[in-house]
Amino acid sequence: MNLNDTMTVKTRNGVSRPRYRPTWAEVDLKAIEYNYKQVRRVVGKLTKVMAVVKANAYGHGTVEVSGVLERLGVDYLGVATTDEAVRLRDYGVRAPILILGSVLPSEVSSAIEKGITLTLCSDDLLDAIRRETAAGLRAKVHIKIDTGMGRIGIWHEEALNFIKNLAQDNFIEIEGIYTHFSSAGRDDFFTNYQIEAFEKLLAQLDGFDIRIPLAHAANSIATVNFKRSRLNLVRPGLIIYGMYPKHTFPKLIKLKPALSLKTRVVYIKDTPPGRSISYGRTHITEIDTKIATLPIGYADGYARNLSNKAEVLVRGRRARVVGRVTMDQTMIDVGHIKGVEIGDEVVLIGRQGRDEIRAEKLARLAGTIAYETVSLISNRVPRVYKP
Ligand SMILES: *Cc1c(COP(=O)(O)O)cnc(C)c1O
Repeated sequence: MNLNDTMTVKTRNGVSRPRYRPTWAEVDLKAIEYNYKQVRRVVGKLTKVMAVVKANAYGHGTVEVSGVLERLGVDYLGVATTDEAVRLRDYGVRAPILILGSVLPSEVSSAIEKGITLTLCSDDLLDAIRRETAAGLRAKVHIKIDTGMGRIGIWHEEALNFIKNLAQDNFIEIEGIYTHFSSAGRDDFFTNYQIEAFEKLLAQLDGFDIRIPLAHAANSIATVNFKRSRLNLVRPGLIIYGMYPKHTFPKLIKLKPALSLKTRVVYIKDTPPGRSISYGRTHITEIDTKIATLPIGYADGYARNLSNKAEVLVRGRRARVVGRVTMDQTMIDVGHIKGVEIGDEVVLIGRQGRDEIRAEKLARLAGTIAYETVSLISNRVPRVYKP
C-alpha cells in the first residue's frame, strides 16, 4: 500500500483528509492543471511539454500529479531515477517517461522492459544497453550533452563522434537529445553560449543526416523567458507547481501555487516574561504572552533555519515562530491574536483569510530556494488532494 494512503482517509466525495496527525500538505490539483495550461499557452501548439515530476513531483505527489498531467495530454514526464519511473508505470501511467539522471548498468533491463526512456551519455551505459538489446529488445534514449552545466552529459565538442557511432545501431532509438542550463535567468551571456554550442551540434548532426526527433534544453526559467531555447520541447518543473523561479516572473506568466502546508495548534500556555523557549534558549519572552505549540518540525521538512524567522497564519493573522524549530514541534507566539484555541488551523505555506505565505518567501528566510523547501516536505506529512 502507498504510504500516503495509510496516513489519509478518503471521504465520500473523493476528498481526502489526514487520518491521525493534524499536520498535512494540501495539494490543489486544479492549480496544477491551471499552471500546465499556462505553460502550454506560453509555448504554443508546436512545442511539446515534458513536465518534470521528479522528487515526488517537488513534494506534491508524483502519482497524483502525473495522473492529472497525463489526462491533460502532457507529451512527456521527466523523473530523476529508475525508481520514480517504475513507480509511475506500476501505477498505470502510460505517457512517455524520461529518466533525467544517468543510471547504472544494472538498472537498464527494468527500464527497457517498462518502456522507460533512458538518458545516455557514457560508453559504459551504452555497452549495458547494447547487451540488453542484443536479445532483440529496443531501447529508447535521449542523449545528454554538457554545454556548461558540468554535471552528467558528454562534452559538446565530443558529442558528434559518440552520436555518429550510435546512429548505426538498429536497436537503440535516439529519440531525443538535450542539454541543461546552469545559470538560466542569472547569466544571459553564458546561457546564450550554452544554446549556441547546442545548436551548433544540432547543425553538425544535420550535416550528417542524423535526424533526432526531440531536442530540448529549457527548464522553467528558460521556458518562460528564453524563447530561443525552447526548440521543440520544454522541460519545466517549478512553474508547473505554481512557484516563481525569479521575482520578476509574475509579470511574464500567471501561476497558482498548488501546495499548502498546514497544521493545528495542539497546545497553548500562558507564559510570563523571562521564560526561555525551546532548545538553546534562543528566545526569551519579554511580556506576558501565549505560546502555542505546533506538531510540525524539521523532520517534516519545516527547516530548522526558520527558527526565530518564519511567520505562520492563525485566525487570519501572522504569528512568529519563536525559539528553535525542533524535530517534531515548533512554537509560535500568539499573544497578540484573540481567541486562539487548541485545534485551530495554522497555515505555514499557503493562504488563510486574505493573507498568504509563499514557499518562495519561506525559502528565502531559510537561506535556500523554493525547490528545496517543497521537495524536503517529508514522507511523514500526509498529502491530501483537492480534486
Ligand atoms: C529538474 C530539472 C528540470 C526542471 O527544472 P525547473 O527549474 O524546475 O523547471 C529540467 N531539466 C532537468 C535536467 C532537471 O534536472
